[in-house]
Amino acid sequence: MSGQQSAAHYLRHGQMPFFRLPMAELASPDAYAGCDAVLLGVPYDGGTTYQPGARLAPYHVRRVSALVQSFHPVHRADVFARVRARDGGNVVFPPFDAASVRAAVQGEIARVVAAGAVPFVVGGDHSVALPALRAVAAAHGPVAVVHVDAHLDTSTAEVWGDAWHHGTPLRHAIEEKLIAPGALVQIGVRGPWGSVDDGQLVAQFGATTITADAVAERGVAEVVRQLRAVIGTRPVYLTFDIDAVDPAFAPGTGTPVPGGLTAREALALVRGLWGARLVGMDLVEVSPPLDHADVTSHLAAHLVYEGVALLAAR
Ligand code: MN
Ligand code: MN
Repeated sequence: MSGQQSAAHYLRHGQMPFFRLPMAELASPDAYAGCDAVLLGVPYDGGTTYQPGARLAPYHVRRVSALVQSFHPVHRADVFARVRARDGGNVVFPPFDAASVRAAVQGEIARVVAAGAVPFVVGGDHSVALPALRAVAAAHGPVAVVHVDAHLDTSTAEVWGDAWHHGTPLRHAIEEKLIAPGALVQIGVRGPWGSVDDGQLVAQFGATTITADAVAERGVAEVVRQLRAVIGTRPVYLTFDIDAVDPAFAPGTGTPVPGGLTAREALALVRGLWGARLVGMDLVEVSPPLDHADVTSHLAAHLVYEGVALLAAR
């Protein structure tokens, strides 16, 4: 039996939880008790440096995710029957103050983790990954991080006059020691830098950086083998910025960079983590107002599905 509600049920009640999942009992103090996975929206884009709109992603990804069925034909697993997953609604905060947004996100993710569930965050811009990662690392210690992105996200306060935005989560994660030494893999990086110094922090940290060109040249299966060797048996946090994917496949994003991953490569990357110890995932930077025919939202929904499906391996 599937853990999804039927298509008819979904049509009847008219609401749009992620993947037609039951909603968590949001009013209950132990809303996430018994869950393996909790999906949360974070409707915030106050950290964007160019085009906004990512605050609307949780609503649109929920809507299109109703089309995603439960059975995974590659893994041969009925995902939502094996993984008890719930939609935990959106994290609530006044969107005018970035510090209070971070506090609210970290608090809610900490609740999910304390319940023994794996958090899946649909952003929001990439600044929401930092508080999620803080909550996960507080429980598990420094984790391996798979960072899929066109950008390094290690910008400094000098660039925009503020250290807390969607271009800085990886700098904070490294400086706050949330990432296990040597256990950062960045995939999909491309495009010009501000200066030669841009790559310094991740190089010093010993990160493995795999450009979008390298994925095309070596093939995703080989990249997955390297990725698996780096993360080993460590707990893994996956932070997926949709702009890692080429704008041809993911036009609905605020800071697009030409020359990215294909949708097929992106899906295969997440699928390739089967058997890894996933302790959290975010999918960020989807901007529905910039999208066409929901193609970016559909891809986002399938990427999150691939992430939740990884828990069926346990
Ligand atoms: Mn990016
Ligand atoms: Mn990013």
